Amino acid sequence: MAEATVVKNAGSHFLLSRLPEWELFPAVLRGRVRLEHGSSTNPVAVGDRVRCSVGELLDETHPAVITEVLPRRNYLIRRSTNLSRQSHVIAANLDQVLVTVSLYFPEIKLPFLDRILVTCEVYGIPAVILLNKVDMYGSEAPEQVEEFVRIYSQAGYEVVRTSAIAGEGIARVRELCRGRLSLLTGESGVGKSSLIKAVDPCLNPKTGLISEAHLQGRHTTSLYEMYRMNLDGGGYLIDAPGLRGFGLVDMEKEEIYRYFPEMLRVADQCRFVPCTHTHEPGCAVKAAVDEGLISPERYNSYLGMLEDDRKFR
Ligand code: GDP
Ligand code: ZN
Repeated sequence: MAEATVVKNAGSHFLLSRLPEWELFPAVLRGRVRLEHGSSTNPVAVGDRVRCSVGELLDETHPAVITEVLPRRNYLIRRSTNLSRQSHVIAANLDQVLVTVSLYFPEIKLPFLDRILVTCEVYGIPAVILLNKVDMYGSEAPEQVEEFVRIYSQAGYEVVRTSAIAGEGIARVRELCRGRLSLLTGESGVGKSSLIKAVDPCLNPKTGLISEAHLQGRHTTSLYEMYRMNLDGGGYLIDAPGLRGFGLVDMEKEEIYRYFPEMLRVADQCRFVPCTHTHEPGCAVKAAVDEGLISPERYNSYLGMLEDDRKFR
């Protein structure tokens, strides 16, 4: 028996490596493991540490057999739709999520970003925002950019201004990635692939680093794949392209505010417990919005999530 980490998941086939070694070998799942985890469509996800049998020869016809998934430090889940009961584990054991947005083409959609940030808070995974394509304006940032940075810095998130083309902020992204397992997400077109290439020129996510030969043309179109970054101190990156919001996980509407760090900070001063922070007198969250300590944009995202919650329950 050996322990290894899942670096790619293509249907029922997996590629594993015994990190920090980067020697990939194929694996399959033993039927019983499949049944042990609840409602998720994939009991084993990229980033999972697993126990597996290893034979003398590991190839397509003699894959390792995964016998056990070791306890996860954390994981990210996506529900297919808000109504769906089925969930899909995106990745496990993450150190951070890098959420990429771009100012133009596509422009930032704050409620979309906030949903991703809330999901990260729910699962206790630190999130950093990469504001890409900052080369698209001159030396003076438009008011919109300053506003964006202000809103999210105030909420407690680091915002890194990046340009995959001009190189701005790339050193900081590299530093963030060093020695960590990161998940990179964001809408299609924001520049995730370009950023990966800028951070580590050896990687080319559009083609995939991991040889498809390993999986011999089988169903290789898996969404999530881990890359090893060529950085001092190592680092691994999971590219989660085109994720359209994770879909909020099951949570009571009374607890949604907990996943807005700036609301959580003041909510213990609300006069009523519980407080929905909508209409209650003496609400510290509303007071903070009035005083400009919580941005109206973030507060509106919160109200939107409360609404959705009503719609879908
Ligand atoms: P992905 O879909 O998120 O992987 O985005 P891509 O990396 O494929 O980039 C989408 C488009 O945005 C491409 O045309 C890139 O050349 C462009 N792009 C990516 N990063 C930047 C940037 O920092 N500045 C500018 N001006 N364009 C960028
Ligand atoms: Zn309140």
